[in-house]
Amino acid sequence: MIYENILEQLSSQKCKLTLQRRELLKILIRARTPLAAREIYDRMLKKYPNMSFDTVYRNLSLLQEMQIVNRLEFQEGRSRYELNLSQDHHHHLVCLKCGGTWKLRACPLEGLNIVNTVPEDFKITTHRFEVFGYCRQCRD
Ligand SMILES: [Zn+2]
Ligand SMILES: [Zn+2]
Repeated sequence: MIYENILEQLSSQKCKLTLQRRELLKILIRARTPLAAREIYDRMLKKYPNMSFDTVYRNLSLLQEMQIVNRLEFQEGRSRYELNLSQDHHHHLVCLKCGGTWKLRACPLEGLNIVNTVPEDFKITTHRFEVFGYCRQCRD
């Protein structure tokens, strides 16, 4: 279902639905946590062993420009990618040691009446909120 919606969105924006882009989307749909470009590349190689990292990176950037993919900058040099699903709004817990991420269902914007204090002529389109710490494996 999600997959079909994204394909529709892409073709309506005149984006060519190459087999490689389709595979990239499937990888992101299957991923339970945001993936680093390298991890996505490793998974792509299983199906397209001749693919270059550059191609994967370019496709990710393109999908990001089209707002199909979110690029998350939790820590410097450790970008991760996930699908941008508006019906699945969430934030992340980020482990400072291994870089692992977990979904956080709570949203600070919902609890804090922030929206009421923003000037009327300012249109909010997005926001960021991440919680950092150590996961079970990295805690000790
Ligand atoms: Zn960890
Ligand atoms: Zn939020």
